[in-house]
Amino acid sequence: MGSPVVLLDVDGVLNPFERPDRGFQRHRCSPNGVTFKLWLNPVHGPWLLDLVESTGAELAWASYWCDNANVWISPRIGLPELPFVPIPRFPGITEGRTLGAWKARHVAAWTEGRPFVWFEDEPDATDCIAAEPDVAEHLLVEIDPVTGLTADHIETAATWLRALSR
Ligand SMILES: [Mg+2]
Repeated sequence: MGSPVVLLDVDGVLNPFERPDRGFQRHRCSPNGVTFKLWLNPVHGPWLLDLVESTGAELAWASYWCDNANVWISPRIGLPELPFVPIPRFPGITEGRTLGAWKARHVAAWTEGRPFVWFEDEPDATDCIAAEPDVAEHLLVEIDPVTGLTADHIETAATWLRALSR
């Protein structure tokens, strides 16, 4: 069993759909020449670094932003460059295939048996990741995309990771 991973989504997790409180700042990000307006909170970086440093875990992106997150998101919230799950563009909803299932398939393949916490807002991600074959012990922390990542989510992850290392 390798060291545990903490997987981060961007939209709906670090970038909530609405500004939840005054800590969030507006940013323009233009990956691949397309401009997005994001809400980002500079407290998220230190929270996440504390989480992995105190539990022996490692951070990685699990987002369609892929490596673009290292360019456009990390520097704005105080995170270093992180590894990322290579998630290809979603081919579309067809019989039984949802966005959550598509991400879960790539997360399962990339984690390769390492335990992980996944901060994710896709509503079916919990069931989809549990249904993947050969997926290691994991905790999906379901995030409300309206408010994004909160201190309670970090605490939930920390508790799970501490129990895992005992
Ligand atoms: Mg999302």
